[in-house]
Amino acid sequence: GVRVRIAPSPTGEPHVGTAYIALFNYLFAKKFGGEFILRIEDTDATRSTAEFEQKVLDALKWTGLNWSEGPDVGGPYGPYRQSERKDIYRPFVDKMLANGGAFRCFCTPERLESMREAQRAAGKPPGYDGLCLHLKAEEVTARVEAGEPHVVRLKVPTEGSCDFHDGVYGDVSIPWESVDMQVLLKGDGMPTYHMANVVDDHLMKITHVARGEEWLASVPKHILIYRHLGLEPPKFMHLSLMRNHDKSKLSKRKNPTSISYYSALGYLPEALMNFLGLFFIQIAEGEELLSMEELIEKFDPDNLSKAGAIFDIQKLDWLNGRWLREKLTPEDFVARVLDWAQENDRLVEGLKLAQSRVTKLGELPPLAGFLLANDVGLTPASFGGLKTSPTETLEIVTTVQADLEKILEWNVTTIEEELRAISERMGKKLRVVTPPLFVAVSGSQRSLPLFDSMALLGRSVVRQRLKVAIQ
Ligand code: ATP
Ligand code: GLU
Repeated sequence: GVRVRIAPSPTGEPHVGTAYIALFNYLFAKKFGGEFILRIEDTDATRSTAEFEQKVLDALKWTGLNWSEGPDVGGPYGPYRQSERKDIYRPFVDKMLANGGAFRCFCTPERLESMREAQRAAGKPPGYDGLCLHLKAEEVTARVEAGEPHVVRLKVPTEGSCDFHDGVYGDVSIPWESVDMQVLLKGDGMPTYHMANVVDDHLMKITHVARGEEWLASVPKHILIYRHLGLEPPKFMHLSLMRNHDKSKLSKRKNPTSISYYSALGYLPEALMNFLGLFFIQIAEGEELLSMEELIEKFDPDNLSKAGAIFDIQKLDWLNGRWLREKLTPEDFVARVLDWAQENDRLVEGLKLAQSRVTKLGELPPLAGFLLANDVGLTPASFGGLKTSPTETLEIVTTVQADLEKILEWNVTTIEEELRAISERMGKKLRVVTPPLFVAVSGSQRSLPLFDSMALLGRSVVRQRLKVAIQ
């Protein structure tokens, strides 16, 4: 039967792009009575964190796209977290070493750097030059036995092209000379994405791989690995990335891209899925409001929408408004509002912070309302009366906004540490730096403690508020 997967890497905030790809796979599974599974691709230990993994799981749970196998629910082909599968990959790499599909590379980082520099200088495309491909077997054995650090690379043909069929792009032909001799196994014995992805898709019996178009150029590497392992590749479908009206890629530097951002603002998961689902199906005007059942019914992978995936936030707002008005009973509506307000405990924890700051409960909305509001109504006057000059205020907010990504784990302690470090770098006292941030984040000069508020709001909302403040 059909088996598809979503395979996020927990290296950042859960991306709406992940929800978009997940939805396609989910619809595909439901359409064909197949299984939709979740696999965590955390082979990049330097960028993957447990916090991001939890957030990805929470965000995908929020979308309502239930998976039948995954790190949290288990399943017959586990573990579903690649960092726990290290030993599983080894025999596959060994097989490729033995049959000549892969080779050991002893090049040092310094040698690779000077190779790249020479390539840049000569205007040649970057890629491994094949030096270690020509080592004699005895030398390789001797160097391995001597414990010399090395990686394993994929051997790539030098002539001809890789021809394959893609369910979206049709027939694709990529010349082998444009394919790099990819590292398959790193010096520490961890596989790279390409190796782990292929082995796991095989072991987890994945029949169709649907993912973002940025992976199309990697297909030749994957096909080579399948070939060297004597395995049949799955069917591929590469989906166009979501773009802005100006055709630029939706990207966290330009747009809020975190699923948590959309849930924090009070979009309904049904409305977001409805909005993303419209990218895949062909429908007439007036038929846009669709439940998941209706999306499944209308979904046809042989007849995908030809329109590009333009992330039109006004359309999302329009659909969300319609969901709120037309699809919920008044009781449902109220229940949803209450659930939303209590999400991530931001209201409950916010009220605790407010307890010592009010004399009557009616003072709570202006004091804590910013925790729930979409927009804190900043005007230049909001910053009036601060001790910092307008230029200084702008400098502070801009610096902090640019540095947010350095806070790897997002909590009160790490936020405070980073803000202290920033103030020190700016040569300012922390108590000079915090007031402009209070205003940017809460819209008011009298509000709840800054670090706690930032922690409760979450990184993506804080990022967006600081952005609005400096516009
Ligand atoms: P950027 O930095 O440009 O915002 P990113 O590097 O944060 O992008 P990734 O972490 O590479 O995004 O992507 C996370 C997941 O989201 C990947 O599976 C990727 O395919 C998907 N993705 C990223 N951008 C888009 C997009 N514009 N449309 C659809 N999917 C996307
Ligand atoms: N881990 C990859 C990603 O985050 C998965 C790509 C794939 O589906 O093969 O995009």
